[in-house]
Amino acid sequence: MADFSDIIDQEQMKEHMQHGLKNDKVSHAYIISGESGSGKEFIARIFAKALQCQNRQERGDYIESCNECPSCVKALSENHPDIITITHEKPGSIGVDDIRQKLRDDVVIKPYESKYKIYIIPEGEKMTPAAQNALLKTLEEPPSYIVIIILTSNINAFLPTIISRCIVLPMKVARDDSIRKYLMEECHVVDYKAMLCASFARGNVGKALDLASNERFENLKNETIELVSKLKHLEIHDIMDRVHTLLEPVEGEEKSSKKGIDPGQYEDFMDILIFLFRDMLVYKATGSDTHLIFTDKVSYISSVTADISYEEIGNIIKDMEIAKSRISSNVNIDLALELMLLGMKEHL
Ligand SMILES: [Zn+2]
Repeated sequence: MADFSDIIDQEQMKEHMQHGLKNDKVSHAYIISGESGSGKEFIARIFAKALQCQNRQERGDYIESCNECPSCVKALSENHPDIITITHEKPGSIGVDDIRQKLRDDVVIKPYESKYKIYIIPEGEKMTPAAQNALLKTLEEPPSYIVIIILTSNINAFLPTIISRCIVLPMKVARDDSIRKYLMEECHVVDYKAMLCASFARGNVGKALDLASNERFENLKNETIELVSKLKHLEIHDIMDRVHTLLEPVEGEEKSSKKGIDPGQYEDFMDILIFLFRDMLVYKATGSDTHLIFTDKVSYISSVTADISYEEIGNIIKDMEIAKSRISSNVNIDLALELMLLGMKEHL
């Protein structure tokens, strides 16, 4: 049962929606834009439920839905006749027929039982230009009762004429501290893990939740750090074999574009390395584990930092940045990782 008080950060967005609820000034069209997993649909559904609620009330800092009236009950079970989600037949695109049948021909029918008729369009960037033009017709002459909420991870995919007719509400990066607190208090994640997941999620609440519940990430983290600890005793072909095993796509999941390497695993692998050496710098400078991300690896971190200079850690971090930029400009990923790990092996 989610309400405005459950939305982590996003102050501007909440303020805008609250203002609309308070003054009954609601726009006909919104675009909520933000990366995948950031919580766009979560927020859209809270807003939609509150708009339709028959008995809104002030609770804490917000005007919230009552969560008890017939409208709220239906909204909570995602079964509200006046909150319509636009689905699409083809996974890759929202075609003109989807928009015509499910939206344009439907908006003329008045709401069944509520003040508003709300359409939520997830993955709005998948609308073809023809679909966007069909939507535009409705945006140009919207019936008074409609509210369209378009969700997107890529606002650049829209025609300027669509954007100009919508209120654009960008998702902001949530603070690490807010995410950590949420994971600990609401999801009962232990403190060091909550901090780690918050750091890795880079402000994306969905990603943090995913990492916290994901054994794969925990394994990747442990095995990556173990690999680093053994680097100096391994030959380069052994090292690369291990890297391949670590980064291979999990069966049944999307196949990668870069041979035999899962792009998501690769990104997390590089982040783990960068955070690990950042931790070494912090530990070397402070001699304490208070500000570390990998607080479960303190004994390893302290043993390495006893023998390595600031300059050497700096060089390793530089090598990692070079490898990342080489890989993003399509240099052979194996070669780039090999050079990076060889450099690391020499310094450790
Ligand atoms: Zn209600």
